[in-house]
Amino acid sequence: MDIRVRKIYEAEFALEDIREIFREALPTGLDEREAEQLTAGIARVDAIIRELKEGKGNPIKYVDDKIELRTREEEYININPIQSGGRLTPEARKALIAYGDGYSVCDKCPNGRLDKIRKPPVAEFHAELADFVGMDEVRVVPGARRGFQAVASALLDKGDLVLVSDLAHYTEFLAVEIAGGIVNEVPSTEKDIITGDAVADKIERVKEATGKLPKLIIIEHFDYLFGNEHDVYGVGKIAKEYGIPFLYNGAYSVGMVPVNGKKIGADFIVGSGHKGMAAVAPSGILATTDEWAPKVFRSSQMVGDVTGRRFENKEPEMMGCTLMGGTVLSMMASFPKVKERVKCWDEEVKKSNYFIREFLRIEGNKVSSEYPRKHTLSKVDTRDSFDKIAKTHKRRGFFLSDELKRRGIVGEFAGSTRVWKLNTYGMGWNKIRYLGEAFIEIAAKYALPVE
Ligand SMILES: *Cc1c(COP(=O)(O)O)cnc(C)c1O
Repeated sequence: MDIRVRKIYEAEFALEDIREIFREALPTGLDEREAEQLTAGIARVDAIIRELKEGKGNPIKYVDDKIELRTREEEYININPIQSGGRLTPEARKALIAYGDGYSVCDKCPNGRLDKIRKPPVAEFHAELADFVGMDEVRVVPGARRGFQAVASALLDKGDLVLVSDLAHYTEFLAVEIAGGIVNEVPSTEKDIITGDAVADKIERVKEATGKLPKLIIIEHFDYLFGNEHDVYGVGKIAKEYGIPFLYNGAYSVGMVPVNGKKIGADFIVGSGHKGMAAVAPSGILATTDEWAPKVFRSSQMVGDVTGRRFENKEPEMMGCTLMGGTVLSMMASFPKVKERVKCWDEEVKKSNYFIREFLRIEGNKVSSEYPRKHTLSKVDTRDSFDKIAKTHKRRGFFLSDELKRRGIVGEFAGSTRVWKLNTYGMGWNKIRYLGEAFIEIAAKYALPVE
């Protein structure tokens, strides 16, 4: 533990306490008692800053009473498979401090539409965001899953078929399920890749068996199980040929990998704010074309029978407004950096491959994902290496987690020494090298041969 990290938190919290004095005071200014509180509060911040400078003092452990501080991004290298792309930028953290209040984005809402708010520049953000993923229209949604749900709800009738991959995320299943549809899985190749041909083949089979075409195809660019890249361009082409709308699931790509929906041939692009766009959860995006926008982003038609009220400016699939505060503001604040970082995707892949290459120097280590890697999320197999050690170690499967934690590495599923996932996204070369060396050091300690 680095005391300075705790002192930074403590200072930030002390500043929030001072901020609260202003929130409770009259707009005319602080009264005598409040002014005294402010002076005392500033003195407290000063004292904490002094401890921060000197690197000493009592480390705080809690945000409040029972909520523990979270310091894993400050004090560790975090290899958790789902957390790396959603790590906030400093800009997003600042936006969260300023816009954390509930409906904070609604200060100047001219017509009851989130995507039309100009201050803060939510409307401008929407325009840029559509451009960023190469589509015509976009809405922010509470997670990629809510994007699937909106599309499934708009497009499906009861009993309609939807093609998904046999590596599909569970949220695709659920989105189709609540819309009354039925999923049909496209089998991946023996290399765990979904191809355009496999999709075409499944369409033909479905047509033969039911006499109907699927109503929607949902395929991920990179799946969550292996982080393998699937042939979304091929799928886009097949979808066009059959005239079936194609939803590109970019949960593991939008915000990290350059994505152009029109080039891919997608009708819908779904991204995850908290998985790939350095944003607060739950957040995500749903983008579409001018062709599909009137269907998915249609206006409400409902009329109240007593009052005659209607809400034509609200979009039912969005439930009106979606992200009304810290979530959308964090997305917006991170966006300039997100736009830049997708340009460095090749470098991220290079680092991922560097790490895996080092990892594979340990005898018995394998990578279950496609190799060379095309993504930073990888599934590794350590049954013939670390798991052999685990069998006789007194800490059993926990020994690897212990050894990693001792070296400041966390995020792997504790107790898993068999087949597990890790993600190197966003690590600098210094961390990548350190990570590789850490595994080799652990192998050497337990006399596993290293090439
Ligand atoms: C994480 C993930 C999702 C779900 O994303 P949310 O933004 O949390 O809803 C969907 N699909 C895939 C492939 C994922 O990896």
